[in-house]
Amino acid sequence: MIIGAEELIQRMNSSGAAFDPETIRAVDKVYPVRISDYYFSLIDWKDPTHCPIYRQCIPDGLELEDSQKEDPLNEFRYEVSPFLVHKYYSRAAFFCSNICRMNCRHCTRKNTVMSNRIADKTALAPAVAYIKAHPEITDLLLTGGDPLALPMDLLEYYLAGFRPVVNTIRIGSRVLVTDPARITDELCDMLAQYHPLWVFTQFNHPREVTKEAAAACDRLLRRGIPLGNQSVFLKGINADADTLTELYTKLIGIRVRPYYLYLCDKVKGTAHFYADYKQALDVMEHLRYRLPGYAVPKFIIDADGENGGKVSIEPNHILEETDDHLILPGRTEGTTVRYNTASH
Ligand code: SF4
Repeated sequence: MIIGAEELIQRMNSSGAAFDPETIRAVDKVYPVRISDYYFSLIDWKDPTHCPIYRQCIPDGLELEDSQKEDPLNEFRYEVSPFLVHKYYSRAAFFCSNICRMNCRHCTRKNTVMSNRIADKTALAPAVAYIKAHPEITDLLLTGGDPLALPMDLLEYYLAGFRPVVNTIRIGSRVLVTDPARITDELCDMLAQYHPLWVFTQFNHPREVTKEAAAACDRLLRRGIPLGNQSVFLKGINADADTLTELYTKLIGIRVRPYYLYLCDKVKGTAHFYADYKQALDVMEHLRYRLPGYAVPKFIIDADGENGGKVSIEPNHILEETDDHLILPGRTEGTTVRYNTASH
């Protein structure tokens, strides 16, 4: 079951939590409430307002109060055929859905894709024709919304259409986190026919790494589908080294590779989640000491503007540079090491 605004109000009444039903109704009119039963069941009702699950799925009056742009990244500026966006040289993205199993309150597309546009089958042929005419495109991202929230036959229609014209297909989906029971054996068997296929998901907090989510990941992995994770750095949810250390330790434990950690985009309705990039760099530095290298994601800023795009930002590790040596961070936190650069 998907929980909408009125069902949510009823459930919150029975939870005994303090809330204002009119705020939920007002936010719902602009940014609709959609929560899977499963994700709702993870809320900690003893302390809901500090619960990372609650904060990602329950509307907040602050969503109506910020004055950011609705679509700073303007992804559809690069739309080359209906729902096909070609922004990066070798990669294209096809927006095959505008629905999700949950409307995440921090979603970067809350003002655009999810509110007003949906692809249909007629979008496939022109998209395939464009890709055929642009052999530099080797990788296709199916995105939305959430492609794994589509009916299986429609998803397969898109996969079968795109399979012959690209090297790799990626699916961006949060269903593994928000409604893992949807990752059925039947769905996994279907996906496995379209290799090489990758799935990228979005775990943001260790509490989301449940036994149900781990089992859904395992079903995909057993079909040879590699899994990557793209977290968002969210104030009040995961913007600290302890939480992310625990999250990434759990993710590699279920064989999901931490890939990106995004700074939250400056999108209207999400300002209450922004954390400073300097704070994120500081957290990244701690993660480098605390985690195996393959568990540390790249930290990414998605820059807007004419030449904007995803940029990986690293803490500066050259503390001092001369003609014959570098001073670098040492093996343990707070230490430094001198590295001689002279050839002899
Ligand atoms: S699942 Fe993804 S696209 Fe859908 S609301 Fe959440 S963040 Fe946005």
